[in-house]
Amino acid sequence: MNGMAGKLWDLLPFGSKDLSCVKLRQMSSDFLEGTLGPKDMWKFSYHTERCKGCGTFVSSLRATIQTLNSLPSQNASEDLKQRLMKQFSEDTKDTTHNAGS
Ligand SMILES: [Zn+2]
Repeated sequence: MNGMAGKLWDLLPFGSKDLSCVKLRQMSSDFLEGTLGPKDMWKFSYHTERCKGCGTFVSSLRATIQTLNSLPSQNASEDLKQRLMKQFSEDTKDTTHNAGS
């Protein structure tokens, strides 16, 4: 059922649609903060729609950030968020590496 999305993508002047899972996860904090450019936003959305692992990853990351943002201490949550982001991307490398085997 990806035919239509694939065709639509081919019409877009954004060049390569390929985005690795690792790259996507590195971009995920920017995505959730709304600081990705439109081109990257498209790539990001395209990938998460097709890649179940990354879709789940982004959902759980978004939920985590929402929880952190609701904490009363802004400074503490920012620091914790950075650490979680780092943790997420480090976990991702292992997960991605092992996923193929
Ligand atoms: Zn992926």
